[in-house]
Amino acid sequence: MSDHYVKVKVQLEQMKSLGQDAEKEGVDAEQVPVSSPSASDSPDPSSITIPATDASSTSKPRGKSRSKPGKDDKNSSGKQISDLSLHGSVVSATAEKNLNRLGYERTLHIRGTGKILQGKSETNGNYVTIHASKNGQQARREDGFKLARKRRPVTVDTSKAKTSLEALKISIRQLKWKEFPLGRRAACDIYWHGVSFHDNENIVSGQVNKFPGMIEMLRKINMSRAVRTMQELFPEEYDFYPRSWILPEEYQQFSTQIRMVKENDATVNPTFIVKPDGGSQGDGIYLIRDPSDLKLMAGSQAKQSVVQEYIQKPLLIDKLKFDIRLYVLIKSLEPLEIYIAKEGLTRFCTEPYQEPSQKNLSHVFMHLTNYSLNVHSGNFVHSDSQSTGSKRTLSSVLYRLAAKGVDIKRVWSDIIALVIKTVIAVVPELKVYYQADIPPGKPGPTCFQILGFDILLMKNLKPVLLEVNSNPSMRIEHEQEVAPGVFEYVPSPVDEEVKVGVIRDTLRLMDPGHRKPIIAQIRAGGFEHGEEIPMEAESQERSPEEIGSLPSLCLKQVYPKYTKQFNYLRLVERIAALFIRFLGVKGNMRLGPTAFRTFIRTCKLSNSNFTMASVDILYIDITRRWSGAMPDSREAGMGLQAFVEAFFYLAGRRFKSLALKEQVVSLLELCEAQLGPQPGVEDRRSLSCSRALPRAIKAQTLCLTNPQLSSPAPLRRAASQDYRLHQRLKPRTLRANVEN
Ligand code: ADP
Repeated sequence: MSDHYVKVKVQLEQMKSLGQDAEKEGVDAEQVPVSSPSASDSPDPSSITIPATDASSTSKPRGKSRSKPGKDDKNSSGKQISDLSLHGSVVSATAEKNLNRLGYERTLHIRGTGKILQGKSETNGNYVTIHASKNGQQARREDGFKLARKRRPVTVDTSKAKTSLEALKISIRQLKWKEFPLGRRAACDIYWHGVSFHDNENIVSGQVNKFPGMIEMLRKINMSRAVRTMQELFPEEYDFYPRSWILPEEYQQFSTQIRMVKENDATVNPTFIVKPDGGSQGDGIYLIRDPSDLKLMAGSQAKQSVVQEYIQKPLLIDKLKFDIRLYVLIKSLEPLEIYIAKEGLTRFCTEPYQEPSQKNLSHVFMHLTNYSLNVHSGNFVHSDSQSTGSKRTLSSVLYRLAAKGVDIKRVWSDIIALVIKTVIAVVPELKVYYQADIPPGKPGPTCFQILGFDILLMKNLKPVLLEVNSNPSMRIEHEQEVAPGVFEYVPSPVDEEVKVGVIRDTLRLMDPGHRKPIIAQIRAGGFEHGEEIPMEAESQERSPEEIGSLPSLCLKQVYPKYTKQFNYLRLVERIAALFIRFLGVKGNMRLGPTAFRTFIRTCKLSNSNFTMASVDILYIDITRRWSGAMPDSREAGMGLQAFVEAFFYLAGRRFKSLALKEQVVSLLELCEAQLGPQPGVEDRRSLSCSRALPRAIKAQTLCLTNPQLSSPAPLRRAASQDYRLHQRLKPRTLRANVEN
């Protein structure tokens, strides 16, 4: 048994007793991942800069002032704010009381642009974490053990795991599963890919740890577009993403808007961060204060990048800027299942933070939190402790914030909301990729994926999404200069602690023998009485000997758990369902003109004011603009984002008097009514990443369809005509046809 494992066991024991304390005091024992540092490395909470101590914050908290840390931090039994264990966290009741409820104005100031996305974030504090009672879970777990039979170990192909191999090996060992490091002639249960779904093309069964299209979807430009569509529909809910412009295509808008803002108020001097589209690890990123400073060209090529409002007032700890790396598991697209790891990492800058000025714009160690950059700073602190150094656990940072009087429950629930909303923004396009790569009716694997969310806390404690990584580093060793100029990989305990937990528990959730989700009736705040909430049991069917003494899961389900609170946001997914329905041809991701016409006809959207000729012009116009926006796209035709734009346009025409969101809902209802009942389960299974759907989950899913199976014959014919047409036509020919 490794040291790490022994440590986790000890933590579990401690957690048990703390959990009991907390339960006695009526505290939800699983809500916020907080861990106290050990006495020896306990840093001083007072060095955290939070709004209460800094009057210069732009968004000030309203209401009560915070209680100071001090003797209040001790709970009634005299303990320091209780150690919230890594894999099951507890805030002591007294600490809880000390964590003031802050009524923050949910306002994201787009500094200098004059634009403000504002409003109260309705999700904040709008729901509470609900868990079936511990006793219920315990009882189910015991039932599971009793029912369990010894089965063959789960097989994992690790031949393509690349840099995640170390952490994966440890996880497989802990689970007592069987690793195939060189691959296997027979099928494995799980395939672990280091980069993409396509790392191994010959998989026809089992589960792969990557979704097709995830890399493309999470590139900076695509991600910005997807979030922007959601911002158009739900501006208040999506105010956690900084205002962004896509370059070079939106250069004019960007420079005009900035010029106007500066002309209106000469004291405003905003800063922007420019990020190359395909970049990672801080590569090619720079700050600017004026559009004329943009480096638009790379040689003779226009650089594809995103320029984004720079968050000038981040929360500081020890005077340093830091960001949060949170691990999120998408277990399935349909039904949508999202898990969040209760433990994450925080990455610190290595030069004290100052608000951007012309002088310090190029100080990367001050402004960029990337580990890959800061590790080369002389100030980088490698530490074996989780709560000091330049890379720390999230729980240790939350602990310090709690000790400072921050309402970390609110911070944590804001983070959960940010994650769910972001996933909802990218799922529609992922579904299009999914049906193209794993065509319905053909043998293929199912998919899951761990994503790395990079989140910045603003000084007013509002979380801001920086980006989502499709391939978060799962390395558990770090590069260190062991002698001048000599670098070596040495183990990193903080990385190991967090990443092994995430991989191991992802595997546990993907265990093919894992008990099917069970439906529990829960009644508690935030959910309506008697509502059926699909809850996944955390127990395993495997027997205790098989499982050994593993800690409880560090991954917490947040969706469908919070379906009720977030389902209304899934409008674009319904548009994507229509889109996929009319795509028709297996492997196709774009709608041709005939299929678009068929969509209009089938949904009865044309009339004397909007003739089929206008439909063709709309198709050509939108498709042309989007093919310009995506110069490297190989396929001609209308992609999902262009279709969404067309849909918004049609909705606006049809329901002029309504606001955009209501227009879209009305048009969706109209189309869905025209298309008749949603296709059967068999069709929906085509996009499922879970093998069987319990009834309650089926009810909450947004149906997608296999057009080959469910579309009427004329529709299928139209789709294949389009496909053939697109095999022959280039976008230019298409345009010429219409212009004539
Ligand atoms: P990369 O994929 O290259 O790491 P990121 O979007 O994560 O790109 O940006 C790199 C770093 O720049 C982040 O870790 C963060 O410290 C900083 N950063 C990025 N966007 C912003 C922003 N809008 N405001 C403030 N800092 C930012």
